[in-house]
Amino acid sequence: MADHFQLRLVDSRMLAPSVRHLAFERVDGQPLAFVPGQFLQIHFHYDDGTPTKRSYSVATVGDGNSPVTRIELAVSYVDGGAATGLLGGLPIGGVVDASGPYGRFCLQAGDVHPRYLLLATGTGVTPYRAMLPQIEQVLAKGDREVVLLYGARSETELLYGEEFEAFAQAHSGFSFHGCLSRQPRVVPRASDRSGHVQTVLAELTPHAGRDIAYLCGNPNMVDAAFNALKEFGLPVPQIRREKYISSR
Ligand SMILES: Cc1cc2nc3c(=O)[nH]c(=O)nc-3n(C[C@H](O)[C@H](O)[C@H](O)COP(=O)(O)OP(=O)(O)OC[C@H]3O[C@@H](n4cnc5c(N)ncnc54)[C@H](O)[C@@H]3O)c2cc1C
Repeated sequence: MADHFQLRLVDSRMLAPSVRHLAFERVDGQPLAFVPGQFLQIHFHYDDGTPTKRSYSVATVGDGNSPVTRIELAVSYVDGGAATGLLGGLPIGGVVDASGPYGRFCLQAGDVHPRYLLLATGTGVTPYRAMLPQIEQVLAKGDREVVLLYGARSETELLYGEEFEAFAQAHSGFSFHGCLSRQPRVVPRASDRSGHVQTVLAELTPHAGRDIAYLCGNPNMVDAAFNALKEFGLPVPQIRREKYISSR
């Protein structure tokens, strides 16, 4: 059964004009055991007292194996959203109820495919941030490649973009492509791509014998990329998905 606990906000910053990075610690002082890729649920009440909850992927970069004391989430603001009101306005020291971790959108030790295709839009990139230590372990095998295609409208919406760029600089097996659908960067980079991730995907000619794919974020992107990968011949078990649907 999932653990229930309270989280206290200890730090925050804006990642983009409408995305807040929040760093919490458990009020009971315990660390959180989670597998990178998993999410927590935040429990709260509507104004009329009805209980509700929303899911948020853990963004913390730990060591890939041990529990973490700092629990980081990236919250994208939705107009009129109930959790947006709560988490967007939470002051430092503010406390929320949470449970978890949940989910199986995780790297698996038994994966033997030589190339990982990681696709994300918006805050859907946060599971991959948490996975970076595990990705480093995968790359250390020397026979694997990891490609992250990250879709955003413009460079200001590439959350943690410089962290992924730095990881790509430090690890030759990792490539990071910002896929910008509306506006190119002011100073374009060779790794940039123009268009939606599911379109840029074709450039990589996905292949069932080589690739395992992870898709996370906007449900429309996840569906479009899923269909594109199936057309390239990837069997469904080689396509793992996490859709950021509202979980009321
Ligand atoms: C497994 C999982 C992991 C998730 N991880 C994250 C995460 O790491 N970060 C994150 O920001 N969100 C994440 N989400 C989405 C998150 O749980 C909430 O759905 C989202 O924050 C909106 O909640 P809200 O209460 O502010 O809006 P709500 O009160 O639920 O919605 C308000 C209105 O906006 C609409 N709406 C809801 N979501 C969107 C949207 N994305 N775009 C446009 N309109 C919308 C609703 O239909 C409704 O009309 C995740 C969802 C799932 C299922």
